[in-house]
Amino acid sequence: MKTRREFLVQSARTTAAAWLVPQALLAQDSQTPSPAPAPANTNPAVQPNPNLAQELRTAAATETIKTTKLTDTIFLLQGVGGNIVCQIGPDGKLVIDSGMAAGTPHLLNALGKLDPHPIRLLVNTHWHPDHTDGNAALHLAGAFIIAQDNTRIRLAAPQYMAVYDLHIQAAPDAALPQETFPDTETLWVNNDEESLTHTPDAHTDSDIFIQFHKGNVIHTGDLWFNGMYPLVDLSSGGTINGMIRGVDQVLALADDQTKIVPGHGALGDKAALQTYRTMLVTVADRVEKLKAQGDTVQQAIAAKPTADLDATWAKGSIKPDTFVALVFDSL
Ligand SMILES: [Zn+2]
Ligand SMILES: [Zn+2]
Repeated sequence: MKTRREFLVQSARTTAAAWLVPQALLAQDSQTPSPAPAPANTNPAVQPNPNLAQELRTAAATETIKTTKLTDTIFLLQGVGGNIVCQIGPDGKLVIDSGMAAGTPHLLNALGKLDPHPIRLLVNTHWHPDHTDGNAALHLAGAFIIAQDNTRIRLAAPQYMAVYDLHIQAAPDAALPQETFPDTETLWVNNDEESLTHTPDAHTDSDIFIQFHKGNVIHTGDLWFNGMYPLVDLSSGGTINGMIRGVDQVLALADDQTKIVPGHGALGDKAALQTYRTMLVTVADRVEKLKAQGDTVQQAIAAKPTADLDATWAKGSIKPDTFVALVFDSL
């Protein structure tokens, strides 16, 4: 069913791009560079943290990996980066996401304790470093890497995340997926069927979720920040409406017994994902109304459209004002 929301997505990208161009790049391109310093970026969607990748790497060097058994063959591993899932079995380990490179020794140690089989496959949920920084190390440990087309494209070139004012270098060749796909991919590994499904223009333009059919486990990647306002990475083609559509795809496949692993936060289930979906739609609808009545992004933030939600959802790294601005700019 088409909604009004869907028709708004295309124009949203153009709007977003307008303010996502960093001041520094504009200055470099200028024919007549001004000696005056560039004005501070006052866009409320920016939570500057240019050292974020380094901070995560430092934290990962001494991280403790918490392992949770989801089924007899599927495990959740949680460290500093995004949530990692490992399926064990006679075909070797299938790992979803690789965390931060500095944490790889801890991850390999935790994986080694699950069973004696080698690491065979690594699936990336999307390109962000907290999910792919360990790719090269896992590849060198034996993993063949599979991801959506845009994950490889973005990993292979320098990236800029406007929301953190964060520049990220291109990944080394060993970190790049060996196989990519545009829409869907099916694996038949370890006596289960694994469906990999692209959700366009969601958290980024490279997101997939992974469903283990027999195991009844779904890893949503960063479509879901469990219990938190999520990052919508407009710099990478993310949109709030694409995120909602992606969540709907997962909900359509889940039942009450499905164990649903979010990109960040605690292990969840269908009811928890439904609650998150309601929050996303509520904020999107409220912000859409403010935008439709002519509010600027600053006015929309001043209207505090998430005031009654913040006590529950403002627990993650994305602040309410930032979330409102990201939603506003992606509508
Ligand atoms: Zn993440
Ligand atoms: Zn992400």
